[in-house]
Amino acid sequence: MSEHEAVGAPERAHSKFGGSIASRYLNCAGSVALCDTVPKPPSSKYAAEGTAAHALAEYCLLNGEREADLHVDEAFPHGPEFEMQRFVVTPEMAAAVQVYLDCVYAELDAAPDAELYVEQKFVFDLSNAEPGEVYGANDALVYTPSTGRLLVYDYKHGAGVSVSVENSAQLKFYAAGAALSKPDWPVSHVELVIVQPRSRDAEDNNGGVKRWIMDPLELIEFPAEIDAAVAAAKAPNPPLKPGSWCRWCPAAAVCPARERDAIQAATLDYAGIGDLSPKMLPEPPTLDVARIGASCAAPISCGRGSAKSRNTPSGFSSRACPFPASSWSTKSAAGSGSTTRTISPPS
Ligand code: SF4
Repeated sequence: MSEHEAVGAPERAHSKFGGSIASRYLNCAGSVALCDTVPKPPSSKYAAEGTAAHALAEYCLLNGEREADLHVDEAFPHGPEFEMQRFVVTPEMAAAVQVYLDCVYAELDAAPDAELYVEQKFVFDLSNAEPGEVYGANDALVYTPSTGRLLVYDYKHGAGVSVSVENSAQLKFYAAGAALSKPDWPVSHVELVIVQPRSRDAEDNNGGVKRWIMDPLELIEFPAEIDAAVAAAKAPNPPLKPGSWCRWCPAAAVCPARERDAIQAATLDYAGIGDLSPKMLPEPPTLDVARIGASCAAPISCGRGSAKSRNTPSGFSSRACPFPASSWSTKSAAGSGSTTRTISPPS
């Protein structure tokens, strides 16, 4: 390949066993079948914004452009098929994408023979998967033949939660996919890079650029892990296993294992609280009318001042109850085998 020429695949598609969800199905075999039962969520404004940012980054890299802000006010992605989902590039989006471009171009500029691959699609050939069933696409990767250095990049436009690169199943998936689809590449160094400039901790975390060195041996071992996960997901009654990977699971709202864990956790949380069952509360016929009146007349202290109306009848202020406790009255009415007592403020 000529110096610094970018190679790109036009299409971004998603597999049931794709890279962005690898952490989930590697840990929870049952999630694949359960996710099949829930409808696909409608696309959100944030998803459209992320797609536009990725499209802007892809466009710049494929065209050798280094300045994302040249495209401020331009709608992305290009192409008639995206007409309804375009998002206009803002200065903030361009600034975030710029961090990613700078990162990729720095690696590319470091060696004259470095090669850039953008949105390169790959397919895993696994014994437990149908042909073409497990595939993915890298946001970008840079390979340097003279040194065997392989850098795999993932751009995340999302603000808020910072995604860890350490041992990232998603990035390992992309690295293994790149290496397997280029078996003639000698690889001596594998570096996984997540660029998430808008993350909560970006300022304290190298501007949101997170790097992790992967053992090149894992390029061979990791596909075997994916293959085992595919087999487990396809086995009868695959188990559900809750964990941190539930966070983005589309089936989280209907997952029985997650619900069971939540109930168990709540039970433990409240285990130290005493018995609050009704038998500990006074029976209505034993209520002391004078006490109720006094209680209504007294201000309630909650440690941050007084609560006004928590236990007073509607319209009464607990600070200035106009009726002394002795002025409250009761009425008793005999029913079938029981007596009902009604407590009333003075009229
Ligand atoms: S919510 Fe968690 S436990 Fe349930 S299917 Fe999804 S990943 Fe598995």
